[in-house]
Amino acid sequence: MDSKDYKNVWVFIETAHGEVRNVGLELLNQGRVLADANYEKLIAIVIGKQLDAAAKTVTAYGADEVIVVEGEEYTDYNTDGYTNVMVRLVEKYKPSVILIGATNNGRDLGPRVSCRLATGLTADCTGLEINEETGDVAWTRPAFGGNLMATILCSASRPQIGTVRTGVFKKTQPDFSRTAAIIREEIRTPSEEIRTKIIGFIKAAGETAVNLEEAEIIVSGGRGLGKPENFACIKELAEVLEATVGASRAAVDAGWISPLHQVGQTGKTVGPKIYIACGISGAIQHLAGMSSSDIIVAINKDSDAPIFGVADYGIVGDLFEVVPVLIEEIRKIKA
Ligand code: FAD
Repeated sequence: MDSKDYKNVWVFIETAHGEVRNVGLELLNQGRVLADANYEKLIAIVIGKQLDAAAKTVTAYGADEVIVVEGEEYTDYNTDGYTNVMVRLVEKYKPSVILIGATNNGRDLGPRVSCRLATGLTADCTGLEINEETGDVAWTRPAFGGNLMATILCSASRPQIGTVRTGVFKKTQPDFSRTAAIIREEIRTPSEEIRTKIIGFIKAAGETAVNLEEAEIIVSGGRGLGKPENFACIKELAEVLEATVGASRAAVDAGWISPLHQVGQTGKTVGPKIYIACGISGAIQHLAGMSSSDIIVAINKDSDAPIFGVADYGIVGDLFEVVPVLIEEIRKIKA
């Protein structure tokens, strides 16, 4: 393998029912930084069905080229079909870097592709830079339970592949006047090679959709709530703000709320415009999942709680007094 044969930064664009998921757009923004550092192109890879709108979106968000692979068999994500496409594309175009969102599907696809290509993969990254000496990507991820950050280089093989947590990077402002070369590749995967069949989508029992990664406002509750019924005030505040409900692991482990709501190192990484932490101390593992939020509001009765170290607005007080006042005031503003 001669690494000089490999160039350009690819971003795998995950779609859900034809819509581009945010993580791909976030990765295009950071992908641009990596591509520019090595004078390379930023290329979006879109696989699915009826992808014209998706191709326009990724162009607006900064792709120099878009490689589109369409087929009935790619309507929904499936491991065999998508792996086949990615591997065939890599063999033909030889990218230097592939960025994939660390979503459920991305965490399935990335390792499969890297194994087929006998190259390395850094999973669940929270930082991406170019190593100035070698030009390799410096992939940063938490290690040893989040107690230290490891920076990993994949120098001996190509492409360099990584899955990257959602919400770590911000999307750029879209520019719908941009144009990009759209390359359509005809790659089919015979149905007998696709071992899984999607027969339907079922929402988790008793749960409305929890889409923390794409939420613009999140209201999270922690152990300070004291008991499960008290999540009602968090849910009410979330409702008036049209926000999504998050939680610390302590609240999840206590069985007060489903793990789908957990924010943090072992939960979701989020990057909303506003994150409101109620009764959450701000342990490092929680901060790992929310500290890139644009505005952080913390409500905690302990003025020394570490959450105040990252908060833009801190309210030292009893959440059971503060949250009802907030709800009332927001209702007044909205009325
Ligand atoms: P606590 O730390 O107990 O804090 C409760 C806070 O509520 C306190 O600051 C207290 O002052 C305040 N409070 C109490 N009553 C009130 C009141 N009436 N009004 C206002 N404030 C009040 N944690 C996560 O959140 N997400 C993760 O993904 C995660 N992953 C982990 C992975 C590993 C490997 C490990 C070891 C730990 C992980 N943790 C994670 C756990 C983490 O270390 C903390 O234990 C957890 O975040 C604490 O949750 P908490 O802030 O709700 O509870």
